[in-house]
Amino acid sequence: MSGTHRAIAAIKKQLGPKLCIMGHHYQNDAVVRHCDIVGDSLELARRVPDVDAAHIVFCGVYFMGESAALLTRPGQGVHLPDPDADCIMSRMSPAPLARKVLEQLSATGRKVLPLAYVNTTVALKAVVGEYGGAVCTSANAATMLRWALEQSDSVLFLPDKNLGENTANALGLDKSQRHVLRLCSRGLQDPAAPEQARKLLLWPGCCAIHARFKPQDVARMRAAHPGCRIIAHPECRQEVINACDGAGSTSFLIQEAARVAAATPSTPLVIGTENNLVHRLAKRHPDCRILSLGQALCPDMAKVTEEKLLQQLERIVNATAVPLEVPPALLAPARLSLTRMLDACARLP
Ligand code: SF4
Repeated sequence: MSGTHRAIAAIKKQLGPKLCIMGHHYQNDAVVRHCDIVGDSLELARRVPDVDAAHIVFCGVYFMGESAALLTRPGQGVHLPDPDADCIMSRMSPAPLARKVLEQLSATGRKVLPLAYVNTTVALKAVVGEYGGAVCTSANAATMLRWALEQSDSVLFLPDKNLGENTANALGLDKSQRHVLRLCSRGLQDPAAPEQARKLLLWPGCCAIHARFKPQDVARMRAAHPGCRIIAHPECRQEVINACDGAGSTSFLIQEAARVAAATPSTPLVIGTENNLVHRLAKRHPDCRILSLGQALCPDMAKVTEEKLLQQLERIVNATAVPLEVPPALLAPARLSLTRMLDACARLP
């Protein structure tokens, strides 16, 4: 055991129930081994309200810490080992631009409901909450898109157009009912464009890590590993997802790896998602050949290291840690967008 590992274990023992370390599946193993709770965005959001610890250390990117801070109780603080770890995609839908676009779309008299992927800033979530919309994750995107379509003329899905397209495909929403918005600094390039009356309006953002995978990668792996099963995360392009054997959230990918490893371990399983998770699944199921669809390491997730986790814990012990603060004006509307998701998912199939 390294000195860093030992020091973290000692602080965890010292703080006991006052500390909870949460971590996303895309974190590296040296960090994950210290986490009390590991999950994808949905699991982590669901667990936060049940955490009693005063100090929540969140090993993930900035928007995840912000989402956790929205769901904490008074007296609890959320700490990020590296506040510079920031999801690139979460910056692709700036709140002022999204507000402008919603104003322009709503000016037609149509009811346009925003549905934001959880990978967004708290400022964007607040705009979504104000406009009656909700947040979704890759695990519940289909449920939440149905929820939004049922009560609006159009849904503005942002910022990940790939998740939007893949979810629409899963629901069977015709392509003629979708439109990828054309934006400029003033909002919509053409506020009168007739395509903007379609059912699903997609913000033109994406995850640069998952968008790296190409249909040729799927073909290459099929040729190299005959009989393999290929699954991927729905942040991948729709051409990739359509070429795969299955797609779903991080939790789905984890469950599918366990299922294949138990039922047909001789079947090579190829997974298209962030590589830290794929490597962990390969280690967890050594009797099954688990491979990555290609190189895909998120540089921001990688900013959180075991050393930075220790430094953060030391700041908590020394009472010099500054918890993440959500601007008070954003708290209520942003929380609303998250709780609408948690409520809708508790009610709907
Ligand atoms: S993998 Fe993509 S969506 Fe996830 S944190 Fe990195 S950039 Fe953001």
